[in-house]
Amino acid sequence: MEPGATRADVDALLDRTGLSDTAHVAPFPGRWTIVAPSRSASEEVTNAGHVERVVDVSGKHNLVSRQFQPADTVVEVGGHKIDGDTFTVIAGPCAIEDAGQLATIAEAVHQSGASILRGGAFKPRTSPYSFQGLEKDGLSLLAEQRAALGMPVVTEVMDVTQVDQVCEHADMLQIGTRNMQNYALLREVGRSGRPVLLKRGMASTVDEWLLAAEYVMVQGNPNVVLCERGVRTFETTTRFTLDLAAVAAAKLATHLPVIVDPSHATGRVDLVRPMTLAAAAAGADGVILDVHHDPASARCDGAQALLPGQFDALMDQVREIRNFLG
Ligand code: PEP
Ligand code: MN
Repeated sequence: MEPGATRADVDALLDRTGLSDTAHVAPFPGRWTIVAPSRSASEEVTNAGHVERVVDVSGKHNLVSRQFQPADTVVEVGGHKIDGDTFTVIAGPCAIEDAGQLATIAEAVHQSGASILRGGAFKPRTSPYSFQGLEKDGLSLLAEQRAALGMPVVTEVMDVTQVDQVCEHADMLQIGTRNMQNYALLREVGRSGRPVLLKRGMASTVDEWLLAAEYVMVQGNPNVVLCERGVRTFETTTRFTLDLAAVAAAKLATHLPVIVDPSHATGRVDLVRPMTLAAAAAGADGVILDVHHDPASARCDGAQALLPGQFDALMDQVREIRNFLG
């Protein structure tokens, strides 16, 4: 719809064209968008009042595609902008373990220049006997650090029943690799309007990943950041196989920001530095990194966690490679 169009104009158009039952209306900032079956892209719609343009989105990716919106989307997370100009670094522990652990790591990554603090309170673990996270208490600890450091925070939401409480404490909702195709959850975080960090399913194609983002966007939430975190292959040298070609391909296909998780992709701290620099060179808009002051005693994913000093040195190298690339 035209920028000045109102919800009443939208409803009038839907009534007049008989699209009320089949169309989906999304309130994107500054403009209403109607997604309707292609057979309805008739002259009647084109010539109805307040219609800016009719785009053929009969391909599978509609709202996420560059065809729909050529310019990059900027996702604002608690005052920080994730876009192509700033390389966003999200860092923190894989799991929140206790107040002291989180505070130590949060202060360190903040000092080194990370923009957003990560930390899992609800942990999706492969084994039911592994540490499952501090849950509600973890969310409170995360919110304390957010207030103390003035730093936005991101944490995973595993289930539709957790969305409200995670929204209370976090600036950004993380959808984990194991939930990328949990459509009820995608709809719910879409309805929340909160920025979403959408990890790629470990056995999902780029197409399926973009369609998962479409689920969030069609609820009227344009604040989606994609995250490549490695896919399953025959290779066992690394935990997963980091698919950097998918990052470059996704950047061409969608206007949404795309970041990389070298920690979960490789599972190896000695590979995090080269893969972070490679992600920057491949055109990623940022990275999400596991950092721990005592990886040997970490309750989750210690083998892939950078020490604060290693993280600090890597931040300098990221700045250098970004300068080099202009
Ligand atoms: C995480 O980032 O804590 C995590 C569990 O990642 P993934 O869903 O990519 O495994
Ligand atoms: Mn982890």
